[in-house]
Amino acid sequence: MFSQETLSYIGIITLSLLAVFVLLLLFSMAAVYFIFRDKRLVGRIHSTFSHIVLDIMLFFLDLSYIPLKKIISVLGRNGNQIDIVLVEIRNMLLRNSFSNVPYKDRLVVVPQCLRNIDCKTTFNSVEGAQCLKCGKCKIIEIVEKAQELGYMGVYIAPGGGFVRRIIKKMKPKAVLGIGCAWEVNAGILEVASEGIPVQGVMLLRDGCVETDVDLEQVFEVMEYGK
Ligand code: SF4
Repeated sequence: MFSQETLSYIGIITLSLLAVFVLLLLFSMAAVYFIFRDKRLVGRIHSTFSHIVLDIMLFFLDLSYIPLKKIISVLGRNGNQIDIVLVEIRNMLLRNSFSNVPYKDRLVVVPQCLRNIDCKTTFNSVEGAQCLKCGKCKIIEIVEKAQELGYMGVYIAPGGGFVRRIIKKMKPKAVLGIGCAWEVNAGILEVASEGIPVQGVMLLRDGCVETDVDLEQVFEVMEYGK
């Protein structure tokens, strides 16, 4: 069907594409390995080479996301490593624009799993839930900090689609999201694609109930631009 010459061209192109793919994976694996070991590396890359290098890394990591996650898991490591690294890079790239937004135009979204198991608040599909300030979990401290700073509000998210709905309703100019690494990575991507500067804080301990977050880290991000 094909001549010998055509077949050899197809072979060369296939091998070249394969080589590019393998190089891309190796580069991405190295980036994940080094940044995961030392998160401050993202800041150093940003201050030394400007955001362009981080933009390129982000592009490669997004491109190799699925195979890389599989490879990391097959190697017996936590597949979330790539999400953690992506969040660090995205946070760094969006930090300045987030910091420039006044507190009154910022919104905080916290995951419902951060609540105490005995939380009595009720959920609304559009507005999520509001903390009743019983003091049984860390959300009350995030709410009080937000009130002290004059934030637009803190919303407890019942699920994935909630962020889209609350953004449509409240129209914030910046969003701080808290969640597990995978959720935060996907959330930053979605909110940033709407042109809204966003920052993410990853949970210290994830899971379905009574998760945990580093409040100092949350407050530090909330105060960006003070
Ligand atoms: S502090 Fe707020 S969110 Fe936490 S358990 Fe009490 S009412 Fe629920």
